[in-house]
Amino acid sequence: MRKYDYLLVGSGLFSCVFTALAKQNKKTCLIIEKRNYPFGNCYSEEKDNIHIHMYGPHVFHTNDHRLWNFMQKFAEFNNFIYKPKVNYNNRIYSFPINLMTLCQIWNVVTPEQALSRLEEARVKIDNPQNLEEWALSQVGEELYRTFIYGYTKKQWNTDPKNLPKFIIQRLPIRLYFEENYFFDRYQGIPINGYSDMLQNMIEDTEVILNTDYFQNRDYWNNKANQVVYTGCIDEYFEFEYGQLNYRSLNFTHEKLEILDFQGNAAINYTSENVPYTRVIEHKHFLFDTKSPYTYISKEYPANYEDTKVPYYPINNDTNNEIYQKYHKLSLSQNKTIFGGRLAQYKYYNMDQIVASAHHIYNKFS
Ligand code: FAD
Ligand code: UDP
Repeated sequence: MRKYDYLLVGSGLFSCVFTALAKQNKKTCLIIEKRNYPFGNCYSEEKDNIHIHMYGPHVFHTNDHRLWNFMQKFAEFNNFIYKPKVNYNNRIYSFPINLMTLCQIWNVVTPEQALSRLEEARVKIDNPQNLEEWALSQVGEELYRTFIYGYTKKQWNTDPKNLPKFIIQRLPIRLYFEENYFFDRYQGIPINGYSDMLQNMIEDTEVILNTDYFQNRDYWNNKANQVVYTGCIDEYFEFEYGQLNYRSLNFTHEKLEILDFQGNAAINYTSENVPYTRVIEHKHFLFDTKSPYTYISKEYPANYEDTKVPYYPINNDTNNEIYQKYHKLSLSQNKTIFGGRLAQYKYYNMDQIVASAHHIYNKFS
């Protein structure tokens, strides 16, 4: 039986970056993937020349120029900047909250007027303890209800009082006209699609689909000198310390025989009574105005118990404590390396995954 240097369990971004690094050092890799298509949440499909992000809007962004240069080896990026709009009760607003949003809500005209209205609106809360308190202390009741409460409640299926504030602290609040969702210096979309980018990372490495590691763990362990595991860490340890909780999603994808559905790559639906959180129109990621068709996806938050597909780790105190126990156990696994959003139980963006794969590869190789 052929023995590989690495068996990668899962074919998401973490595994693909790890494979690219291993290949640079002439190591051999084999990837197994339980789904019937590769590349995890980065999987994209091309239809009518439009690249469809099958798992929600994916915009690559980073502040690290070395990491950005690394990515250029595998894809050409456009200069897309993510500027979602908000639809609240059928009115469109500029988002993330910036001077234009405040002009729309309060009819203010200058940054000074906006600041003065915001200061009046802010709820005085010393040392906010949760997402709701933090949001109220930053933007006050009206903006909180319009932009945050409904979306957050749908997304996490709990009152925002029960959520940690870090979830929302990544969103900017600006008193000038700027709708860029991110602060990072580099941002873009791979013009040939994410699947093409990840395929370029792994090149000719074999990916065996429809294959769950846990169906034949010993067989797969024997295939390689080391295992790189990117699935859920609690599952790896057979839930010894209990189950970690995740938040899940359902996506619907539609082809529409019209030129343009919503005029933007993403619109967030912040009203509680609309069941989805976002509508994505994929052609706008590539500034495509030619295609006579358009593809849209709706994103519905869902319970992990119902879908069994983990998307977001829920990093509250209880889960973090359980994760720490699994993490401790993982340190004693000489043959297995743990990496990625699920095995590290972290709310990582793609750039953080790429950085983490570099760090872990360099540590263990
Ligand atoms: P995954 O992509 O989850 O890959 C893990 C793979 O392992 C999966 O394919 C899974 O099927 C497989 N697997 C699991 N268990 C087994 C097993 N037992 N046997 C075999 N295979 C197994 N990041 C950004 O930077 N910008 C964005 O705009 C952005 N938008 C996002 C939007 C959404 C809706 C979501 C959910 C995430 C978004 N992200 C974004 C985050 C990004 O998707 C992740 O950081 C990244 O894809 C995680 O890669 P990964 O390899 O760790 O995990
Ligand atoms: N959020 C919100 N309103 C929005 C968009 C986001 O209240 O219109 C909150 C929500 O709690 C969400 C968090 O901000 O979970 C982070 O949003 P982001 O878009 O970064 O989430 P992701 O892309 O990871 O789904």
